[in-house]
Amino acid sequence: MIDDKQSMLRMIPKVDRLMMEPELEKASRGRSRQLIQKAVNQVLDEIREKILSNKMADVSLVNLHAIIAKVIDKIDRFSRPSLQGLINATGVVVHTNLGRSILAKKVLKNLVNLAGGYSNLEYDLKLGKRGSRYVHVEEILKELTFAEAAMVVNNNAAAVLLSLDTIASGKEVVVSRGQLVEIGGSFRIPEVMRKSGAKMVEVGTTNKTHLRDYEEAINESTALLLKVHTSNYQIIGFTKEVPLSELAALGQKHGIPVMEDLGSGCFIDFSEYGLGREPTVQEVLAAGADLVTFSGDKLLGGPQAGIILGRKDLVESIRKNHLTRALRIDKMTLLALEETLRLYRDRHRAMKEIPTLRMIACPYNTLAARAERLIKMVGKISDENFSMVLTEGYSRVGGGALPALELPSRILCLVPSRMSASQMEILLRKNNPPIIARVEKDRVLLDVRTIRVSEMKTVADTLARLSRLSSPD
Ligand SMILES: *Cc1c(COP(=O)(O)O)cnc(C)c1O
Repeated sequence: MIDDKQSMLRMIPKVDRLMMEPELEKASRGRSRQLIQKAVNQVLDEIREKILSNKMADVSLVNLHAIIAKVIDKIDRFSRPSLQGLINATGVVVHTNLGRSILAKKVLKNLVNLAGGYSNLEYDLKLGKRGSRYVHVEEILKELTFAEAAMVVNNNAAAVLLSLDTIASGKEVVVSRGQLVEIGGSFRIPEVMRKSGAKMVEVGTTNKTHLRDYEEAINESTALLLKVHTSNYQIIGFTKEVPLSELAALGQKHGIPVMEDLGSGCFIDFSEYGLGREPTVQEVLAAGADLVTFSGDKLLGGPQAGIILGRKDLVESIRKNHLTRALRIDKMTLLALEETLRLYRDRHRAMKEIPTLRMIACPYNTLAARAERLIKMVGKISDENFSMVLTEGYSRVGGGALPALELPSRILCLVPSRMSASQMEILLRKNNPPIIARVEKDRVLLDVRTIRVSEMKTVADTLARLSRLSSPD
């Protein structure tokens, strides 16, 4: 056995010899020597490992042409940027792993125009001296939400941290036990609270918290009453949450500010479009919140950002906090955010032009027609590898908004015949560009809600190609 392994190992071609293979030389043209070397080393290491672990250790492993093909494949992969575009066929509109919101065309145009040149990012054109980067979105945020003051940072996690640090460091923050959320594995209310130096005072129970629970927790060290949007879960059954207006009244009575971390934060009431109900930012402010924080790239449909709105004195002190410098928003983000916010001046335009809003509100009939079109575009296929059917299904908003809302959609369903659904999902994912699909009950589901019209042909061509594939690997 050992002898076998040793002789196999000896059959692995030497690096220098491989590098001189004409096929490889041709594929290496224009690529750096380091990159080629890295590809060769990795392929040879993998083969050695396979031989030593006795996994599929057969002589085909050391076949020269197979090795060269592997190296060329690796070179191709290394040459591509790591961050690349893909097609979201999951039907989850605000998909955190896939980059959340995609930007509106008008926003992109502005980015291209401005990011390649200098700008008045921190320069006051009227006075001819240093200005503040925050002014560019402050006025429009105030205009859209009727907030007294506005401030933006890198993301909503930063917005919450900064607000707590400014208002409650060394003091107590009262929060309901039903709202101690974890978002995406790294944002957890108790952890953020600890980092900010605030002491968390939990009140109520998991399912029920009453106004008197908050009131009883208030003492001279209380700096803030916090409400957190339970973004990615719902407590159903025997439950009670204190409405923000009641919490605000309590805060006012005791002279303690009330903050709501809205998470997603939207400006438009989706129930008017026959969708679920989320409190809008305007409503939360009107209900008496002293501070509201939310993300720029969830329901708002803009770039990653954290938006803080509310009472002028509070926002002013947040702005003066030295942490702000470490959490500050980047120039390109600011550009994209301002342009996205400008679209909201006309809400019909916002619904039409902001992809996140457009996808969420896309009517079922449009989706059904699009799914039909996709099947037609694929054309006639032999069902040796898979067959296609249209079924009823649901898309989701994602990003911690309306977690329980199911958006009816028409789903293209692939029923694989000689591979498993997860193998088929891998083939789609390894495509260039990758197509990310859902697997459910031995079927691969493609939801046209999140596939852009410009991507339909690529999806159709890929499906047609996969249907002709003679062997799944
Ligand atoms: C998403 C979310 C956050 C974190 O926002 P990021 O933009 O991801 O930093 C914080 N709080 C709530 C309630 C959220 O839903």
